[in-house]
Amino acid sequence: VGDHMDFDTETESVCPFCGVGCKVSLKVKDGKVKYVEGINGPANEGRLCVKGRFGFDYIHHPHRLTKPLIRRDDAPAKGLNVDPGNLMTHFREASWDEALEVAAKGLVRLREADPKSVAGFGSAKCTNEEAYLFQKFIRQGFKHNNVDHCTRLCHASSVAALMENVGSGAVTATFNEIVNADVAIIIGANPIENHPVAATYFKQFTKRGGKLIVMDPRGVGMRRYADEMLQFRPGADVSMLNAIMNVIVEEELYDSQYIHRWTENWEAEKEHLRAFTPEAMSEICGIEPDQLRRVARLFAGAKAGMIFWGMGISQHIHGTDNSRCLISLALMTGNVGKPGAGLHPLRGQNNVQGASDAGLIPMFLPDYQSVMDDGIRKRFTDVWGGGDFSNEKGLTVTEIVDEVYAGRIKGMYIQGENPAMSDPDVDHARAAFAKLELMVVQDIFLTETANFADVILPATTLYEKNGTVSNTNRQVQRVRPAVAPPGDAREDWRITVDLAQRIGLPWHYGDVSEVFAEMKLNMSSLDNITWERLETETITYPSLHETDPGQAIVFGDGFPRPEGRAKFTPASVIPPDEAPDADYPMIMTTGRQLEHWHTGSMTRRSLVLDTVEPEANCSLHPRTLRALGVEPGEMVCLSTRRGSIEIMARADRAIAEDMVFVPFAYVEAAANILTNPAIDPYGKIPEFKFSAVRVEKAKST
Ligand code: SF4
Repeated sequence: VGDHMDFDTETESVCPFCGVGCKVSLKVKDGKVKYVEGINGPANEGRLCVKGRFGFDYIHHPHRLTKPLIRRDDAPAKGLNVDPGNLMTHFREASWDEALEVAAKGLVRLREADPKSVAGFGSAKCTNEEAYLFQKFIRQGFKHNNVDHCTRLCHASSVAALMENVGSGAVTATFNEIVNADVAIIIGANPIENHPVAATYFKQFTKRGGKLIVMDPRGVGMRRYADEMLQFRPGADVSMLNAIMNVIVEEELYDSQYIHRWTENWEAEKEHLRAFTPEAMSEICGIEPDQLRRVARLFAGAKAGMIFWGMGISQHIHGTDNSRCLISLALMTGNVGKPGAGLHPLRGQNNVQGASDAGLIPMFLPDYQSVMDDGIRKRFTDVWGGGDFSNEKGLTVTEIVDEVYAGRIKGMYIQGENPAMSDPDVDHARAAFAKLELMVVQDIFLTETANFADVILPATTLYEKNGTVSNTNRQVQRVRPAVAPPGDAREDWRITVDLAQRIGLPWHYGDVSEVFAEMKLNMSSLDNITWERLETETITYPSLHETDPGQAIVFGDGFPRPEGRAKFTPASVIPPDEAPDADYPMIMTTGRQLEHWHTGSMTRRSLVLDTVEPEANCSLHPRTLRALGVEPGEMVCLSTRRGSIEIMARADRAIAEDMVFVPFAYVEAAANILTNPAIDPYGKIPEFKFSAVRVEKAKST
């Protein structure tokens, strides 16, 4: 790093990784980011984790895409077979004009034959304005809603349950509200690795005497701070949560006044819960009845309690039911809409909240307005300059990939997503992408997905662009360019505008602030939030007036649902899609690690992060390793019904003996070759957290 005072410029922006949305100051010397400091944003108060502090040099990596590329006529067959250091075996450089023309002509040709033969994946790594333009590109350009992004793979089921029961898909309180809580539940989340700065607030909460309840099939790091640790059986979330709520019902620990004033369907919920006694559910979830009772009394007895959850809740075929239980638990104890209380799904990517708010989902326009409502669609098309589009919900990520595989979707526009690494049963996704007649990929690196592209459009990192992002707390923040993009790379929003004009759309934006201004016309969540205010402020939506910094807590005076009431939706026990059996006797779960971000496209090109964590690895209990005859550091072979990988094994006492944890950032041992593509029927999210697996000593060991 060298001398900390030796820099030419400093620029304020937002960390590009997780949903915490830490504010950063980028110190630039000779056109390169030299180091990064945390500054005083409301979500981080100067703090940064290792990714934010050291994960920036990928932006200057020699593998950055700097010129538009077109697949060569004599390129080898499509596959995961391009050397990122030698792209010219498969692609040739092109001017922007030529690349955009080839992409646009191909999209128009497919549209003329069948508009539904084209679909789009936008990105939670891009800005709000870029997400908004991307969904508009598909809806206005192709007249349907087949546009989605990675929220489908992380919190789609949480959003489905929140929309259904609370009337809003975002958090009801910022994570910083934990400072006012007496009790907090963290379930299915590993914030020490995945939301590290948020975890510092959770640790401080316990230091000042707050009671922490951690629930997870893995013994995640927060267990060291927990008053109650419930290491329940994988997939048994609903039985455990219903048993806790059964105690609250049977012992009449619920908040009658709150339930009466602000909720509906309580009697049905209460009756439903009577069968879920701690004794009966203990068998299923593996938690002793006494502990279930203790936890119920602790949470229901608090003056104010918060519930945080992550993908351990959402990535199941019963992910929506899991979230329904958490919402019911908060409602019956009156823990929404007051200081220190609330529901908080910890959002994954830095702008997954914003991209979802901006309408990058197949069933909702911006602000979660239904595509099925004629009046709503008209309001949008009036702003967009006419032309209606389908009133049918569009296809989701995995449904689009299935349609590609079936040959019905022939063209895709993919901005900043890497489904050839992130989709479940990823060999199926890769085989699908190889069939596409036209794949246009807009990204900063030759990702695994870009291996299959016909046209590659070089885009910019967050530290090279202007716009806004919205974090897990509903906080809208400005990002600003600290350095110029390399070569001919362009900001994503400009590329989408150029492409839109070439497919015949009447788009004219001189500056990204004009996109933000258009978003405000149909997004009441942005009321009182102006570009000018965002120059100097972070604003939490909703903001009630021109000087209101925003509402950290919402729904104290009713919910955006009929009669202002939230709803109880009873949840039944649905077992995981595939049970362990004699062939696949163990359970595999996947996730992230502290040093690597999602599919690794950025962090594996960051020197410090990749040096700390350079090798694909999985975690097994030491006794499991001994039974397999495997030493820590040796290779194991993991097999599921989808495929096999060989990967280095680590010993981890915190993991159950019948489980293996596999991070999904490593292409050389891609966890998603193994994962189950079965999806939750409501949120359409795959069951990444439960696959039946066989673990053996690798033959190569
Ligand atoms: Fe970036 Fe998240 Fe770490 Fe903050 S906690 S520095 S937003 S990765």
